[in-house]
Amino acid sequence: MNQPSPLLLVVEDEPQMRRFLRASLVSHGYRLLEAERSSEALQLLTSHHPELLLLDLGLPDGDGIDLTRQIRGWSRVPILVLSARGQEGDKVAALDAGADDYITKPFGVNELLARIRVALRHAQLVAAGSSAEELTFGGVRIDLVRREVFRGGEPLHLTPIEYKLLVLLARHAGKVLTHRQILSEVWGPSYAAHQHYVRVHMAELRKKVEADPARPRLLMTELGVGYRLRDRSS
Ligand code: CA
Repeated sequence: MNQPSPLLLVVEDEPQMRRFLRASLVSHGYRLLEAERSSEALQLLTSHHPELLLLDLGLPDGDGIDLTRQIRGWSRVPILVLSARGQEGDKVAALDAGADDYITKPFGVNELLARIRVALRHAQLVAAGSSAEELTFGGVRIDLVRREVFRGGEPLHLTPIEYKLLVLLARHAGKVLTHRQILSEVWGPSYAAHQHYVRVHMAELRKKVEADPARPRLLMTELGVGYRLRDRSS
């Protein structure tokens, strides 16, 4: 049975960027809706139920961060932010408002397609109520039932914090998590400002999980934003 190709909503006011997205995405089998303004985006979202939003942050009638917050009041649709270089603060604000990921302009088609695949797959897992008993990535296996972690078959001895940190990143494999999101999930909401906690524990975790902790291949730093567990397609 053929599944219809995923319907994406592009929210972007620059005609050139929209042309690039249209050419790249339609040729890879996606169906597209396009909006230039937040108000239009909301209309299309409620009338057509796209499976993912590609969202520019600077729109003529408001910013993408507010739009993200508004959408998250009633929808879990994946939101992939299109941001310009040097807008780290905006990226973090968009992610904290509920966006799923971001991609920095200018970007290539392959990077865009990989990000879209990760976001769509993650949304499917969430919708399926993901009750996996184990998570695996890059030679590492997490047994969620026994709370044990193995690398190449050998058990890793993680502290409870390191275990929570690793499971959180693995559950969101391929997606960036902000410092604030990590702190509030692992330590609790009142720790949201303690960025150094994450740095310190991530360093310890890398020593145990990475073959070469100085050149991580799994636990990636997203400068000024947070961390991402590298997914096989990202
Ligand atoms: Ca813009």
